[in-house]
Amino acid sequence: MPELPEVETVRRSLLPKLAGHTITGVEIFWPRAVRYPEPEAFAAAIRGRRVEDLERRGKHLIIHLSGEQSLVVHLRMTGRLLYRDEGDEVSPYTTVLFHLDGGKALHFVDVRKFGAMHLVCAEEWDQVQSLRGLGVEPLSEEFTPAYLAAMLEGGRGPVKGRLLNQQRIAGLGNIYADEALHRAGIFPGRPAGSLSPVEVERLHAAIREVIAEGLAHRGTSVRDYVDGDGRAGAFQERLRVYRRTGRPCLRCATPIRRTVVAGRGTFYCPQCQEETGTGAGPQE
Ligand SMILES: [Zn+2]
Repeated sequence: MPELPEVETVRRSLLPKLAGHTITGVEIFWPRAVRYPEPEAFAAAIRGRRVEDLERRGKHLIIHLSGEQSLVVHLRMTGRLLYRDEGDEVSPYTTVLFHLDGGKALHFVDVRKFGAMHLVCAEEWDQVQSLRGLGVEPLSEEFTPAYLAAMLEGGRGPVKGRLLNQQRIAGLGNIYADEALHRAGIFPGRPAGSLSPVEVERLHAAIREVIAEGLAHRGTSVRDYVDGDGRAGAFQERLRVYRRTGRPCLRCATPIRRTVVAGRGTFYCPQCQEETGTGAGPQE
């Protein structure tokens, strides 16, 4: 699933292309992709709007349009937003197709069809349930070691579960949580409240580091993710644990293992990330 670095890369790739275009029409091939308003009202309301800016919050891409409307796009598992020429081939997995002025088009291609779009004005933001109560951005100043400590404090459930909670940290998902926990030397199933202050500090630094590196390498393409030009990211070449089951840990050469934590496939090094952490963390 696209996480913060992937959605931000899509935003950066699309912004210079989409900005200034007017949406001249929309074809909805999969009505459930349009969550709000009803597809017919959606199509009528978006026609004639000009793209003014693109923003990202957590894993949401927000396309600000003229007339104080915003198109909130959640790519979910496999969604892709592709900027194309009018007349280019339309994939059978296209759920929504926006026609733009100047002979261009924006294709929302989504193999698994979990992706969702909302067209909202300022008073309707609450219609986008996943935006409600969204947590801090991990690269923002609000995300401090003290914030992380407070959100983990007293937690009996696995630390990874807290990291994935979008109402605590927005945009962090399965790939970058596993990578951050490995870099911090913390087993993902450790109770959140069992981390020592030094481990919290290390985890905080690791989260910012993996997100920043993911962004610098334009995201991770392990499945469907590509940017708005159809280009794959490169961070998959730098993953240390995610989807590396059986391959040697890049720090200690122990084979990486896969388990399930917080209901999610989870990758870790049994040597660097001891299940019964002492709170001291790995020896350097
Ligand atoms: Zn290791």
